[in-house]
Amino acid sequence: MSMKQRTYLVFMGPPGSGKGTQARILQDSLGIPQVSTGDIFRSNIKDKTELGMMAKGYMDEGELVPDDVTIQMVKRRLAEGDCDRGVIFDGFPRNLVQVVALDGMLAPHGGVSLAPILDVRDDEVMRRITGRRVCRLCGEVYHIRHNPPQVEGVCDRDGGELYLRDDDHPNTVVNRLFVYYKQTSPLVGYYFAKGLLANVNGSQSPDEVTEDMLNVLAEHGIVIRVSPLVYPAR
Ligand code: AMP
Repeated sequence: MSMKQRTYLVFMGPPGSGKGTQARILQDSLGIPQVSTGDIFRSNIKDKTELGMMAKGYMDEGELVPDDVTIQMVKRRLAEGDCDRGVIFDGFPRNLVQVVALDGMLAPHGGVSLAPILDVRDDEVMRRITGRRVCRLCGEVYHIRHNPPQVEGVCDRDGGELYLRDDDHPNTVVNRLFVYYKQTSPLVGYYFAKGLLANVNGSQSPDEVTEDMLNVLAEHGIVIRVSPLVYPAR
């Protein structure tokens, strides 16, 4: 039999549009992992690796980390065993060099399956990002008003400390939006031209966005894996 088709989703949308939240939710239903370049950089910063120290300067300014480093990092991640059915890209690619590199990496496996874009207005993005709190241990994302943890400042999942990302301070957010429109938003046209773009209203509650996302995926023939959560009775 020919090699099984893999599912590669590229989540598009400005910072704070909910890509990470949705990728985290959907990786379980789809059975393919979230690959967040931002999360990989942050975990390298936490571990004080050479890569992390290099990336931090760019991230704190809201600028992109250089392409060669980022692309190599994604290549290494894709070679790991859990990526052999596909992945959900969250925060990659972010410019035209990266999109071309990604096409090259995925060419042997059928290329990108779909690029859903989460549409959210800029003022909403600002509100979301400045209220966002992230777990230092597991990266789970909260919002001080819309999705607060049970105990303030503490992650529901593992008790980790919740913090405001260094690049989520208002001044940096403005630059990240600027970088998004200048460098990343042309990819919307790129995927549209390939017939791979799917619009999702990102200004709804996380559950509603997930539902719309699942509908869009189903419309494009992307099958939802049913996890064997219920075991047969003895
Ligand atoms: P994110 O968590 O996706 O918002 O990413 C946080 C920061 O990490 C970005 O503002 C960039 O500085 C850096 N970063 C994440 N993904 C990429 C990428 N694909 N290319 C370059 N820099 C990235």
